[in-house]
Amino acid sequence: MMKLSEEKWLIKKNNFEVSPVNETIFTLSNGYLGVRGTFEDLFFNETPGTYVAGIFDKSESQVKELVNLPYFWGLKIYLKYEYLNPFECEILDYKRILDMKQGLLYKEMRLKDKKNRITKIEGYRFLSHDNRNLALMKYKIVPENYKDRITLEYFIDGKTTNSTFHPKERVKHYFLSNHVVSDDYLYLEACTRDKNYKVGILSSVEAENYHSKVSRNYIDFIAQSIDIDPVPQNEYTINIYTSILDSRRYDNLHENNLKEIRKAKNIGIEKLLENHKKKLEKRWNVADIKIYGDEKADKALRFNIFSLLSLANPDDEMVSIGAKGLHGEGYKGHVFWDTEIFMLPFYIYEYPEAARSFLMYRYYTLDKARENAKKNGYQGAQYPWESADTGEEETPKWGEDYYGNKVRIWTGDMEYHITADIAFSIREYLRATDDWEFFLNYGAEIFFETARFWVSRAEYNKDKDRYEINKVIGPDEFHEHVKNNFYTNYLARWNIKEALKYINIIKEKFPESYNKISRKINLVESELKKWKEVSNKIFIPWNKTTHLIEQFEGYFKLEDKIITKYNEKNMPEWPENVDLTKLNKYQLIKQADVLMLMHLLSEEFDYETKKINFEYYEKRTMHKSSLSPSIYAIMGLTIGNHSKAYEHFLRTALVDLEDNQGNTALGLHAASAGGTWQAAIYGFGGMNIDKDEKLNFKPWLPPHWKSMEFNIYYKKKLFNVKITQNHIKINDLSSLNDK
Ligand code: BGC
Ligand code: BGC
Repeated sequence: MMKLSEEKWLIKKNNFEVSPVNETIFTLSNGYLGVRGTFEDLFFNETPGTYVAGIFDKSESQVKELVNLPYFWGLKIYLKYEYLNPFECEILDYKRILDMKQGLLYKEMRLKDKKNRITKIEGYRFLSHDNRNLALMKYKIVPENYKDRITLEYFIDGKTTNSTFHPKERVKHYFLSNHVVSDDYLYLEACTRDKNYKVGILSSVEAENYHSKVSRNYIDFIAQSIDIDPVPQNEYTINIYTSILDSRRYDNLHENNLKEIRKAKNIGIEKLLENHKKKLEKRWNVADIKIYGDEKADKALRFNIFSLLSLANPDDEMVSIGAKGLHGEGYKGHVFWDTEIFMLPFYIYEYPEAARSFLMYRYYTLDKARENAKKNGYQGAQYPWESADTGEEETPKWGEDYYGNKVRIWTGDMEYHITADIAFSIREYLRATDDWEFFLNYGAEIFFETARFWVSRAEYNKDKDRYEINKVIGPDEFHEHVKNNFYTNYLARWNIKEALKYINIIKEKFPESYNKISRKINLVESELKKWKEVSNKIFIPWNKTTHLIEQFEGYFKLEDKIITKYNEKNMPEWPENVDLTKLNKYQLIKQADVLMLMHLLSEEFDYETKKINFEYYEKRTMHKSSLSPSIYAIMGLTIGNHSKAYEHFLRTALVDLEDNQGNTALGLHAASAGGTWQAAIYGFGGMNIDKDEKLNFKPWLPPHWKSMEFNIYYKKKLFNVKITQNHIKINDLSSLNDK
């Protein structure tokens, strides 16, 4: 058996079953590719998923979707030409393990079929973090007590579709534009239907001591069968090398894939695994968080970090992370504010190159954001609520409510805050990395264009002599068409004011850059007067005498409902007599909104205000979005509500491992993974940055935690932070770190 890592690195499932939730949990990804954790056999009721970041297609679907490409890890075993179907066998042994340290999925199985033949299968697969185009799989088969011919059928399946089991939404997004089969390798090329993105998949099977090989093209799938006439108890190994390239970045996909595979086979799978592990280890050496005294929290946190490390690819600036990662088709692979507000902090402090690359995606899509603003009658840049390959607005217009009734979706029309969220994340990045090169060449332009958008979006109310932002959806999506959402207005104002601040800084310190940017975007002094006026007069619905902040104008007049019951997964239950088709009517909210802002701009709110708002909104937050519990964990810790905070932390950390939102089958909750990291570092670690841009820690650990340890990049240095119940120790590791 291969050597797996220590227990704290392993996610295990010991029940042999088809489970879409396990498929998500066992998804492997390296930021370029994602492959769901279906079994190699590909049983008929599994939902295979093979995704390449950035490959989207619309065809008959309502909006563009991340394309479910051909599945390339197919492997079936036949004994004397009879399929060895595990569901018809006695399972003598079974284990599937995600080894997060090594970044691989391991499987071990012993099967006894109806003819009493016992077969042992053991193997692993991984997507290389060293060469992101490579996928590798190794299997060993031992016929324990028989000599019957074994046939291993390796296949690439080109029959996959999106929404496999949804008869109304199933779409085939590609046709097959090339097939090549030979003894040496199999090649299948998929071509998307709208934009003709091509994805070439080439696999070569390495086998020893076999009797014969046959490769076939079955038109919609291709396969190679290898016959082995075994000696009982002997071990038969096969290695499958796969290279995947797409036409967004490569020409001659067939030839280039073949080159990759020749190189890879020369190196050999064991060495490729070594190289992959080394790359991942380097990341783990920085990003791992160790919690001593709470194994459950420690492992859950590690799983979330593993997911985030799996989604980064600093080599491709044209893509960002979908709300469900590369782990499933929920939200069609679209990119939301989830990346900037929830995940980006992790990358900023643990993997700054990846953070920069995700921000570059917003730079490459800036022109589309400008077009979007213009189309809607505004100036500057308006980022889409949901984004895919080009940066156009991809939010579907129609969806279903909680009862399955068709409803209009308004988020794409009015969830504007994403535009300020992106500006906010650029400031976060700059402050922590001092990467002025990025800011002067790219970030500042986004910052100014988003500020410009807000200035044009704000409406002047003459009677009240103030600017308002109406007809919006704030982070809480239960309330649509609202007026003056606190979060939106506050962050819009922040966006404009900070832009003015950066304009002054750049003018003074980098006059050449200022000239370049201002010429490029046509920024003139007279315009800035208007920016000042709007930012000074934008209405913030906050009556400072009461501390309690109204989420939007009129919110306090809504029917009040309080949450009192929690289900077995400790998630809130709907209070009685709530009409789920009219959520606009109640004070119940979907997710953190006022509290969300207090988290982002924590230094602008005092303790009392945070406490009062936490207590008010906590009872009314349904956490119907997985983006919510992490924020309540952090804010709970800020105000000293420790027990609640720990509960919220477990909710966010276990969202996928325990499927507590009930939809892990559709993919990972990537924002919650980022939120979990934030809850650990900002929450328990108490990390914050003060006005002088100094890092501070005000930790609090649950009583049963002995200690917590993590590393942080800050201003190009790497620090190690060790926190115990009564000590905190910070070491500068920069000299040890080769980046
Ligand atoms: C989400 C929105 C999203 C919409 C369409 C809803 O469930 O809450 O944020 O825009 O689906 O994808
Ligand atoms: C949430 C949004 C989020 C989206 C994608 C929705 O349910 O309300 O805040 O961006 O899901 O994760």
